[in-house]
Amino acid sequence: MSDIFLYDTASRSRRRFVPADPQRVTMYVCGPTVYGPAHIGNFRPAVVFDVLFRLLREVYGADHVAYARNFTDVDDKINAAAAQEGVDISVITERFTKVYHDDSAALGILRPTFEPAATAHMAEMAAMISGLIEAGHAYQAEGHVLFSVKSHAAYGKLSGRSLDEMIAGARVEVAPYKKDAADFVLWKPSKPGEPEWPAPFGAGRPGWHIECSAMIASTLGETIDIHGGGIDLVFPHHENEVAQSMCAHGKPLANYWLHNGFLAMGAEKMSKSLGNVIRPSELIARGIKGEVIRYGLLTGHYRAPLDWNDKLIEQSRKALDRLYGVLRRLGDVEPADRPVPGPVLEALGDDLNTPKAYAALFEILARANKAGTHEEQANAKGELLAAGRVLGFLQENPDSWFGVDGLDGGMRARIDALLTDRQAARVNKDYASADALRTQIDALGVLVDDTPEGPVWRMKAIEEA
Ligand code: AMP
Ligand code: ZN
Repeated sequence: MSDIFLYDTASRSRRRFVPADPQRVTMYVCGPTVYGPAHIGNFRPAVVFDVLFRLLREVYGADHVAYARNFTDVDDKINAAAAQEGVDISVITERFTKVYHDDSAALGILRPTFEPAATAHMAEMAAMISGLIEAGHAYQAEGHVLFSVKSHAAYGKLSGRSLDEMIAGARVEVAPYKKDAADFVLWKPSKPGEPEWPAPFGAGRPGWHIECSAMIASTLGETIDIHGGGIDLVFPHHENEVAQSMCAHGKPLANYWLHNGFLAMGAEKMSKSLGNVIRPSELIARGIKGEVIRYGLLTGHYRAPLDWNDKLIEQSRKALDRLYGVLRRLGDVEPADRPVPGPVLEALGDDLNTPKAYAALFEILARANKAGTHEEQANAKGELLAAGRVLGFLQENPDSWFGVDGLDGGMRARIDALLTDRQAARVNKDYASADALRTQIDALGVLVDDTPEGPVWRMKAIEEA
């Protein structure tokens, strides 16, 4: 079995991954709040943890990994959006859950095993809160239930901050009914007209943190192997999840904590409040494929910040064109049934080192391109496809990737012949002929890109022609 090492935020160290039960490896990632469409920064964790999900499935078996990613469908922003349209919150949350699923599919993100919605787990949240009140970890004040951070000595351990630092550094809401400024809301009354749910301690709605704690326990169990999310969630969200779950169950919430860095544009984090967001569907409308966006999101190591720009998109498209170009050339070769090549698994097992995995992928590509015998070609193609599967690439038919699936065989043969002649003219340093052939190729509406593996061509899109 191939080794996996992960950088664990809680211990601030790289640790060998050992699941509590290899028959059921568990992972939870905090999902979106469905009040509006998610931007590609929000999709960075979704893509990163999708790669980890695929890797775990590869190593432990597809049926032995349980992955849950929630939908937060109770929230002030959802209430505001519903009020503005004069509709029930479910109209808003169902609309944006669908958008999230569509965007995820475009980015090659697999559906997690469980996708719990907060509104479907209200009873579990209420039960957990009742338990915390009984155990003296939570108290009621002015219709609210608050978690008492002083009741839990380990509070602050995950983020490594002292209580004073936490209060100073985070926008912890100051409220007169709090015993301690760092105490956080488990349950609060709804405002008139807002949705509310019954609970033994008064009707209302849950705080954000308790939602995840309850959904983790009910979908995966009281202690899970891996908990993930964006770096901004370490404090207060994950610190509070840990405190609630630990105090409710007397067990650690997760054995490994993973956090991805931000996606930035220029010097700034991509965020809705700054207004510098791009949605996947906007890029797709510009003719940029989902796999290209995914490739771009995985170009850097997941813990480092990543800058999103047009150059990154162009490089990602070119890289995938090279991969699909060789697959197209090997179109008639039946791929051998091959496992994911060792160097790719090793790279991903090295704390999800996707840049290293890309390098390994291109080594397989070079081998596929040079393969002489039919057997070498079949093996290299099989390995390329297996590596693509664990990374979530090369899922498309090469002809459709290049937009030539509708082209008839005669036209195809003609273009290939012109390209072969042009290559030959270049080799003979007959540049006049090469240029003339290039003009002929152009006139057919064909766009040629020269790659280290040879030329790849596609039909020009209408606006390019
Ligand atoms: P939100 O909808 O803001 O709660 O974010 C959902 C997830 O996306 C969280 O895990 C955030 O940490 C993550 N996230 C938000 N913005 C970015 C960004 N610019 N880059 C990377 N992750 C982000
Ligand atoms: Zn969460």
